[in-house]
Amino acid sequence: MRKQIVAGNWKMNNDLEASKFLVKKIIKKLKNNSLQNTRVIVAPTFVSLEKVVKKAKKTTIEVAAQNMHQAKSGAFTGEISAEMLKSVGVNMVILGHSERREYFCETDETLAEKVSTALKNNMEIIFCFGEVLEDRKSKNHFKVVESQVKNGLFHLEASAWGNIILAYEPVWAIGTGETASPEQAQEMHAFIRKIVADKYNKEVADNVSILYGGSVKPSNAKEIFSKEDVDGGLIGGAALNADDFIELVK
Ligand code: PGA
Repeated sequence: MRKQIVAGNWKMNNDLEASKFLVKKIIKKLKNNSLQNTRVIVAPTFVSLEKVVKKAKKTTIEVAAQNMHQAKSGAFTGEISAEMLKSVGVNMVILGHSERREYFCETDETLAEKVSTALKNNMEIIFCFGEVLEDRKSKNHFKVVESQVKNGLFHLEASAWGNIILAYEPVWAIGTGETASPEQAQEMHAFIRKIVADKYNKEVADNVSILYGGSVKPSNAKEIFSKEDVDGGLIGGAALNADDFIELVK
């Protein structure tokens, strides 16, 4: 059975103290909840990773990085490698977030390389993709999503998919307060599962968790998460508030 996942992407928010404070609060609030089929992930900034990993160590909370470079090491000023993440106890990374694609010019090609590097290092990947508003208006959203998933991930062997979590995030819904309707999310998630099944097989498609992201809040999560092919969410804004985040997990 697929795991339900709630992942908090803290983006460029929270300094070290604030990160420690937030994860502590989340840990405390989750203590008395038995979450057998739900994974809870937080993704702080690079500078807070090590401390957050330490705080989360004896808990069920998992820690992901928000990005990494595809090279092993070298002259890439300002970048962080997979080995470096692993050295501070981080075994998971978000790749392909629309903000990385848009503001940092990450292409499908670079992302495919990052995916390969992360897998070589036995890391799990939350792979993000999603159409912009014009794509949806011009009814190109399925085509755009298909090409992002194909170009970023279809070079992988079926066996690698155990380390992949997909996150469909329509760009027009990120940080805008506007979410895809539960029906729009379900329609796209079912489509994604179908293209994965067509490329690989039903087992790979049935086992991969597909998260929805884009303005998920306690008030709209239940409806979206209850859809058959929606296996949880990648949360931005609402993940910065421990009460909201826990509400989403519940
Ligand atoms: P949001 O961000 O929840 O603030 O819309 C989601 C994301 O970018 O992952």
